[in-house]
Amino acid sequence: MKPPIPLLVALLTCVLLTGRARAEKPWFDRVMTGMEVGPTGAQFGNSEPHDLRFAARFDGQEIVRRAAAAHSEYLVMWVRDGDYAYYESKLLPKAPGLGQRDPLREAVAEARKHRLPVIAYCVVQQGGHFLKAHPEWEMRGADGKPLGRFCFNSGYLEAMQQLLAEQLAYGIAGFHIDMLDQGFGPPYGCWCDTCRDRFQREYGQPMPSGPTWDKDWERMLEFRYRSSEQFEKSLAAHVRSLDRQATVDFNYHGNPPFSFEVGQRPVQHAGNGDFITGETGVWGFSALTVGLNAAFYRAAAPQQRVQVAMQRGVRMYHDQTTRPLNDIRWELLTLLAHGAFVTMVDKTGLDGTLDPVAYERTGAAFADAQAARAQFGHTPVADVGIYFSSRSRDWLGREKPADWFLSFLGAHKTLVYEHIPWGVVLDENVTLEALRRFPVLLLPNVGIVSEREAALFRQYVEGGGNMILTGYPGCFDSMGGPAAANPLGPLIGGKFVRKLESLDNWMRVDAGETFGGSQFAPELRRDWPFLVKGPAAAWNAETATPWGKLMKPHRTIRQQQGKEGVEWPMSADAPVGPAVLRNRIGAGEVLTFAGSPDYATASDHHIVEARRLLASAVHLLHPSPRVKITAPANVEAIVTDDSTSRTLRIHLLGYNAPPQTLPVRERPYVLPALMENAPIFRATLEFRDRPHGATTLRSTTTLKQDGRCIDVTVSDVHEVVVVRY
Ligand SMILES: [Zn+2]
Repeated sequence: MKPPIPLLVALLTCVLLTGRARAEKPWFDRVMTGMEVGPTGAQFGNSEPHDLRFAARFDGQEIVRRAAAAHSEYLVMWVRDGDYAYYESKLLPKAPGLGQRDPLREAVAEARKHRLPVIAYCVVQQGGHFLKAHPEWEMRGADGKPLGRFCFNSGYLEAMQQLLAEQLAYGIAGFHIDMLDQGFGPPYGCWCDTCRDRFQREYGQPMPSGPTWDKDWERMLEFRYRSSEQFEKSLAAHVRSLDRQATVDFNYHGNPPFSFEVGQRPVQHAGNGDFITGETGVWGFSALTVGLNAAFYRAAAPQQRVQVAMQRGVRMYHDQTTRPLNDIRWELLTLLAHGAFVTMVDKTGLDGTLDPVAYERTGAAFADAQAARAQFGHTPVADVGIYFSSRSRDWLGREKPADWFLSFLGAHKTLVYEHIPWGVVLDENVTLEALRRFPVLLLPNVGIVSEREAALFRQYVEGGGNMILTGYPGCFDSMGGPAAANPLGPLIGGKFVRKLESLDNWMRVDAGETFGGSQFAPELRRDWPFLVKGPAAAWNAETATPWGKLMKPHRTIRQQQGKEGVEWPMSADAPVGPAVLRNRIGAGEVLTFAGSPDYATASDHHIVEARRLLASAVHLLHPSPRVKITAPANVEAIVTDDSTSRTLRIHLLGYNAPPQTLPVRERPYVLPALMENAPIFRATLEFRDRPHGATTLRSTTTLKQDGRCIDVTVSDVHEVVVVRY
């Protein structure tokens, strides 16, 4: 039977549409490197409107030409901040120095010639002339005082929708919206009339007036999270209703160092745009967490591409300095190796002129990266999943989240220094399938564990997964009070006796001691207590096998009397319980540290032994990984797998900051110096299965293969060992 005509038409349309979709992947699926360009001078808001020098030479055409010449594959063009529009807006004043010019129109017209997608950079949350003109949309404290930020439940949403609509009319490809935060410190909330009314309607009670950390505050946290989520979703839906092809991305703030105060939860605020995007850089996130940010974003929105923004400035976006090429390359290539696409942020001089050196170096770094395009974007291989509990972040970290973050950050630092491939797992979207991607799951001081999570962990371990627990695993109820029963108890195989009040805790193992017959941490000196700074607890082994001793610290009489602080570590006193418990469940095992080698590793009293101890736990539970990597601690290794071509790639990134001199403030807390020279380093890769062959990307590398072992000496910031299996 012949299909009726309408069905044929439908089929044909369908074929044509799919064909079209295939030919025209969205811009963010095709790109690897791009630039973001914006003016300097109004970033703090309330700038002088009569200063006609500001942005006078902020020129859309020139920006596009220079960005394209620097191998940008897209341009994020600054079009709105808290003071001005950098286009003809019906709602906002245009930066006065622009005169009759319209940089957005100039940029879009020039970009067409280069087939360069233009993304509008649009600020959401910046005080300035627009907020001053609209006090009715301003956040209010519990005392009614204005807070200098926009309320997401106010009429500001409609204003933002109108702004995006007039920008979209220029023919741009999408929006970068920066940023959906609710402040970076107290007071944590908005008590404007709209928010108060809405809260009362939803919960039948008034808002608490501050962080009470009880049921009322839990409702307040949910209310805040939902306010940001709805604002994001409304903006994204509005843009799609106007133009289905236009993209929206929101500058993400769900990862450390941010916590509940900004109003974002790792997963809840991750997937509301077309791809996830966030910032990184030594200036605000440390050198080590550049890669962590990319991996965290990936875990938060696993269905999406990851974009990360870095900057050309030495310390920050607007400082008008330019980093050395190798410093830029190291950060760019680290992000690409972690599977992200990267935006280089450039801020122009006051009048809008572009720094030629910034474009030369960005161009050189982008060209180098694009020549290696085939090396990026493959599936990450990870031996360890680092678990991040947003519930513990909120209810244990509370208003001092940095303390709680140390365990998570130290777990990451350990795995990077020890070259154990890792990934991130988040409590909000965890599934058994997600857990099973990792041979080992590490819970860094996850104090709050729900029944659902405990059941997943149990299934995971019974099926052959392995877990490492540190700190106070499962020891707290959902609000951070002591747990009546530890949901992880059966996995741990021990009984929680008490929390130690001290952080300067010690561990020791006796000569000749094994761990249930296995050698454990054989390189650690025996009969020698070493500091494992961090949260610790005394446990009694039940079904678990104990190993080593956890020791409390000495306390002087004056410390006991409360007349002396305990911030500095004191020497080891008596044992209070085992250092580690090992428990077999089904086909898997659980290793519980009575202390926190992860926290110790991120702390100011990091000793190598604490880190090695944690790495030994991974080696014990997962003795035969696909590749064992030996390299100096300043080299980060990232492993990816392309199973179609049966190719493993081991990216090696050498960080090489020279020593720094005395800082003016907060001695001795120095920022790392800039990386000028490419490092020279040696790495050994030992494969479980003998590789069929191996090559390297860079001609300066020497490679020797001996059976299952490959030895490379690298003379660059970045190398990829490409191994066929
Ligand atoms: Zn409000």
